[in-house]
Amino acid sequence: MRRVYLDHNATSPMRPEVREALLEAIDSLHGNASSLHAEGRAARRLLEDARERIAAALDAHPDEVFFTSGGTESNNTAILGLSLRTKPPSSVTVSAVEHPSVYELAQPPGPLAERSTVIPVSAEGVVCLERLEVLLRNRARVVAVMHANNETGVIQPIEEVADLCRRYGAYLHVDAVQSVGRLAFSFASIGASTASISGHKLQGPPGIGLLLIRRGTRLQPLLFGGPQERGLRPGTEAVALAHAMARAVELAVAERSEQSARLRRLRDQFENAALSLWPPARVNGAGAPRLPNTSNICFPGLDGQALVMALDMEGVAASTGSACSSGAAAPSHVLLAMGLPEELARASVRFSFGPGSTDEDVQFALDRLQSVLRRLVQSQR
Ligand code: PLP
Repeated sequence: MRRVYLDHNATSPMRPEVREALLEAIDSLHGNASSLHAEGRAARRLLEDARERIAAALDAHPDEVFFTSGGTESNNTAILGLSLRTKPPSSVTVSAVEHPSVYELAQPPGPLAERSTVIPVSAEGVVCLERLEVLLRNRARVVAVMHANNETGVIQPIEEVADLCRRYGAYLHVDAVQSVGRLAFSFASIGASTASISGHKLQGPPGIGLLLIRRGTRLQPLLFGGPQERGLRPGTEAVALAHAMARAVELAVAERSEQSARLRRLRDQFENAALSLWPPARVNGAGAPRLPNTSNICFPGLDGQALVMALDMEGVAASTGSACSSGAAAPSHVLLAMGLPEELARASVRFSFGPGSTDEDVQFALDRLQSVLRRLVQSQR
């Protein structure tokens, strides 16, 4: 049966060039990058070459690039690491729409819950800058605002956020997991102290991520036991993954503008037609700047989870929100923060397009959506 994959914000399948780079490194590497012998030195060279290529693609210095296991670890390392570098730990303020790997640090029973505040967002999902300024005036020292949201695709005004943080001397962490490869990204000019990136969101290998740390910014390590990644992230380096990650980042950045234009056209085509299939439907975050590939549609009167399951049976993969929480029954904290009542939050479905998506995929997904909607209406009668 034909399948159309519209869940690229959950994970975007590895591209062939990346797989090739991964296999090439696995086949050629034998040593530990910390060993002194020739095999070890070869692994070290490949690792540092990957770091340099990634730095060049992201407009960062090589010594600002740290390898981690993914976006979750990068977010935890940055926020905990920035907060715990002082005694007592610095206060943290996070936007209400952050990914759970940021948000849950600041919510009970998270480790920073007692010293955290939340920056509210508008009905379109954009952070309230006035409120952020009040929190900064009240001595928020570590701020986390994501570049683009994984559920709605809404893009945050990072330049303004960074200006405010700079003015009040606060550290800014930017979760760029959904934006690299979809939006222009320069670590040199984004104005953040730290930024997170994940391999599997940009058609790279799963199990590797990046934490970019501005020169001169010190973080308290969370792991101990070795000098790797300059003591911040001890443990034997995943050199083959780093090599493949470098390829993925280079390709994602090089193809970004062409892919973005193409995906925006497909996404808009899908979105307009989907809205006309269910007249009360609306796009969450439609009034804000959004990632070109993401469409989060609220289908009033329907259950989003039932819709996702019915689409799956018909060959279309979509999602009710972030993959990490789609198994759970709770409505999306992102949509609730935007002021959607619980019922409408539960009626929302995310469609996220990726480099492999085609016009035919859009047509197939729309046909299946139309038949599923028809069936759901009949079963409700
Ligand atoms: N941040 C955002 C915005 C995400 O969408 C995700 C994954 O869904 C993560 C962080 C976590 O990344 P990873 O799956 O690499 O741990």
